[in-house]
Order: sequence, then structure tokens, then C-alpha cells
Amino acid sequence: MEIILLKMGEMVLKGLNRSRFEASLLSRLREVLSPFGNFEVSSRQSAVYAVPKDPGCDVGGAFAAAGKVFGFSALARAVRCGKDIRELQEQALLLPQLKTARSFKVEARRADKRFPMTSPQICAELGGCIHEKLGILVDVHTPGEVVWVEIRETAAYLHTRPAEGAGGLPPGTAGKAVLLLSGGIDSPVAGWRMARRGLSLLPVHFESYPYTSPEAKEKVLTLARILAEWCGHMTVRVISFTGIQEAIRKHCPGDLATVLTRRSMCRVANAVARRNGAGALITGDSLGQVASQTLEALAVTEEASVLPVLRPLVGADKEEVSREARRVGTFETSILPYEDCCGVFTPRHPRIKPRLEEVLAAETLYDYQTLEDETLKRVEKIEV
Ligand code: ATP
Ligand code: MG
Repeated sequence: MEIILLKMGEMVLKGLNRSRFEASLLSRLREVLSPFGNFEVSSRQSAVYAVPKDPGCDVGGAFAAAGKVFGFSALARAVRCGKDIRELQEQALLLPQLKTARSFKVEARRADKRFPMTSPQICAELGGCIHEKLGILVDVHTPGEVVWVEIRETAAYLHTRPAEGAGGLPPGTAGKAVLLLSGGIDSPVAGWRMARRGLSLLPVHFESYPYTSPEAKEKVLTLARILAEWCGHMTVRVISFTGIQEAIRKHCPGDLATVLTRRSMCRVANAVARRNGAGALITGDSLGQVASQTLEALAVTEEASVLPVLRPLVGADKEEVSREARRVGTFETSILPYEDCCGVFTPRHPRIKPRLEEVLAAETLYDYQTLEDETLKRVEKIEV
């Protein structure tokens, strides 16, 4: 019978917190597997087993979904069989990956020490049989394929090279944070990175309708849905920034418009965080990428935030972030052309090194407090 075998990641190091981590991890795994049929999920030491309970289970679909659960370092589709060397040999000869492999080796692990053969003996028996029956060369240094045998308490498992798991820590185990989600490449990746560190995300998107199109908003919701495949259900908050941006444009120096808008976003995001018990903001800022991301601009923006602002991409370059966006699955959506609100109101010559005193002076020129309170009364919530 084919099952999914998963290996817990670094959470095994977490000492007393371990049972809480493990409970979150298993509950998230059950949740992602449920659309693919009835799977029984259980754990033993650092291994987790997802066993299909009826023939209608879609093991392939379940395997792909399980690859997006944070907290697992590796996973494999494995054959479960009796703890008997003949049965292991029969099953090994059927492994589809061996049909195309040019060379192989066997790795054996024996958790059940009562099993009559040692690991080297298992490797020799099984390796000899595969070589003889399938004519594939043994290569212990650079094998084309690796056949893993694990002799556990209740059964033996056979699988080839495991796939890389999503890594990180189980969802929600590190608390909550507000993700400032634009339609760009960076912020979805920033959210993904922090979710992978165990934060549950509250995405907030600022729109400037009618300056921005309904497609721009739909694009952000699509990005949030892709993130939800990794993080689970989320509530996206769409908040209108039209009034605030118009007031800034009308009353304040044009070259400070971007930093003023950013500060306003920070304050509104802090208010959302406070109401929902979130302990930080997350942005996709990367040092020096654009005028609003110089050290000076980041400092002036951050001054408007009570909560810490997490910037997981601050030291990443665009190439690296794009590669990661492809892995997350957001890249193709992010590069769609619809502008978010900042594009529409971006000044032609934004100040690269804004000074806090000047910015504070500019903030006396419009009533940001009232405008921010107003927009917070009309938050649109969308479940993804
Ligand atoms: P991204 O690719 O994430 O849009 P960017 O390189 O385009 O980033 P900016 O547009 O300067 O950079 O935005 C910096 C960060 O500010 C974004 O990563 C995001 O976290 C936040 N942000 C910008 N615009 C919005 C918006 N309309 N709604 C929510 N957050 C925003
Ligand atoms: Mg952007």
C-alpha cells in the first residue's frame, strides 16, 4: 500500500514546546489532505505518516498539497509492506523510479532492532536483488537513484529520494502579523517567508479606487489565495487609500508624497494589528530598491509604527526574490500589469533622503488622523 511519509523539520529541537508544535503541524496536515480523501495522520518520533483509508484517496494530489505544509523538511511517497526481506525485494522491483535509473544504491535504517538483519545486510540483500533482476549498476558514491528502506515498529517502508518539504515552523506557532500586501513581486514573498517562520498572516491591501482598477484588487486577492495554499485560510482586508492620497497630493510637498503615504499605511496597519492581536507588520521592502527604500526613507517610515516592522527581504536582491516567487507560485500573477495605488500617485522626483522634521512638518498640513479613522471604518474583509 502506498502512503505518505513526512519528516518533521527543525521543530524537533523545540523541547517543551514540541507537543504544541506537533499538534499544529498535524492539524494543518489533516486540513490540507482532507480534499484528497480520508487519510489517517499519525506521528512517531520525527516521522509523520499519512495513510489512505479508502481506495478513492488521491495520493498524488495529497502529496503535492503536503509539500506546502510548513514544518516538514522532507516527504516521500512510500510503499508500506511487511517486515520481511522477500516482500521488500518484491516491492523494490516494482518501484517506478528504478525503471529509468542508470545506477542506484540502497540505504537502510532499522528502528526496530528486533529485525533479524542489520542495516548493511539489508542493503546487500536488496541491492543484490535489484542489480540482478533489473540490471542496474550499484554506485554508492553518485547513485542515480537511492532506495530507502526503513524498518519501523509496525511495518517496513520503501521509497526513493524524498522531495524537499516546505521547511520552517508550523503555521501560527509564532503568533500573528499584519502583511502589507501590494500587487508586486516582493510583498507576497515577504509574507511567505514570515509564515514559514510560524507567523499567521493578516494581509492588508491599500487600494486607490477609482485610480486603481478592480483588476488590481483581484490580482492581490489571487496572490492571497496562492499564499493561502501554504498558510491556510486568511482574511484579507482591503482598505481605501484614495482620500488619504488625494489629501497628500493636494496639501503636501510632492517630493514627500511617497514617504507620507508609507507612514499613513504604517499607522493604519498598526490599528488593524492592535484590533486583531497581531504583534508586528511585514513589508516587502528591500534596501535601496526604490526611493522609498533607502535607509533614511525606511527610518522615517518606521518612526510611524509602534509595532516592529519585519522586512525579511531587506538584504535580498530582485533576482533572488523572483526565484523565490516562482517557488511560492506568485510570480506570474505579480508581473501582471495592473498598478497598485502607489504607482498612480508616485511623485516624479521622490525625496531619496527624507528628514523626519520635514516629514512631521508636512503632516501638519493635512488632517491624517481623521482621514485614517474614516478609512478604518470602511475596511472590506474578504476570506481566502
Ligand atoms: P512589492 O513588490 O511588494 O510591491 P515594491 O518593490 O514594489 O514591493 P514598494 O511599492 O515601494 O516596493 O512597496 C514597499 C512595500 O510596501 C511593499 O512590499 C508592501 O509591503 C508595502 N506596500 C506598498 N504598496 C502597498 C499597498 N498598496 N498595499 C499594501 N501594502 C503596500
Ligand atoms: Mg509595489
